[in-house]
Amino acid sequence: MRRKIVAGNWKMNNNFNQSMELIDLIIKNSKKESKCEIYVSPAYPFLKDVRIRCSSSDIKVMAQNVSHTNHGAFTGDVSCNMLQSIGVNSVIIGHSERRTFFKETDELLLNKLELCVENDFEIFYCIGENLEARKSNRAYQVIETQLNNTIFNISNINPKKLVMAYEPVWAIGTGLTAKPIEAQEMHHFIREKFKNNYNNDVSSNLTIIYGGSVKPDSAKDIFLQPDVDGGLIGGASLNSNDFSDIINSI
Ligand code: PEP
Repeated sequence: MRRKIVAGNWKMNNNFNQSMELIDLIIKNSKKESKCEIYVSPAYPFLKDVRIRCSSSDIKVMAQNVSHTNHGAFTGDVSCNMLQSIGVNSVIIGHSERRTFFKETDELLLNKLELCVENDFEIFYCIGENLEARKSNRAYQVIETQLNNTIFNISNINPKKLVMAYEPVWAIGTGLTAKPIEAQEMHHFIREKFKNNYNNDVSSNLTIIYGGSVKPDSAKDIFLQPDVDGGLIGGASLNSNDFSDIINSI
């Protein structure tokens, strides 16, 4: 059985008090039985406190980014080992905001992926096409290239430690959600590529979640798609009630 996951990406929002308030509300709401695993991703300075708060619940905590290297003169970077030392073993890699604003290339992302596999991290790996590619019918080509340049160079993929996030760039933070059928078709395509590149076992056990302006009223139809195993939620994860409604849409 594939894992079902709803993960909240808080991005660069919430100071310490706001992060604590939000996680307390999310924990309170999560006491009800849910059909999926729940992750939250606060900013670096609050990871440890949020993780400690979550130890009374099933909610897991992940980092929004990690360095491409283990240690040394990389001002501002945070390594896998540093995260592990505060009990955080999951991380988002390849978010389009990192690719766009911080110019993270496929080469750098492959480096990060390799290091995370080496450090036994659970990886949430984001891929997605921009609007221009979608409009010119090149979405599938872009996704295939992103896969070929990065994750497919890793031979020892453990599908239990990898979550693929299909996040069309044109849908992130824009209020435009992919149509459920568009999400399904791309998730199916990604799953087929994993089957061709690895094997049936990897592909059928791989969790592929969708991200891009998922809101309480759009979540259900997207999550109903057979190849969609949950969501990576940005804006709506900052409101505990919306996040909880999305969790309950699975
Ligand atoms: C994201 O940042 O991963 C995301 C999906 O954001 P939003 O839900 O706000 O589009």
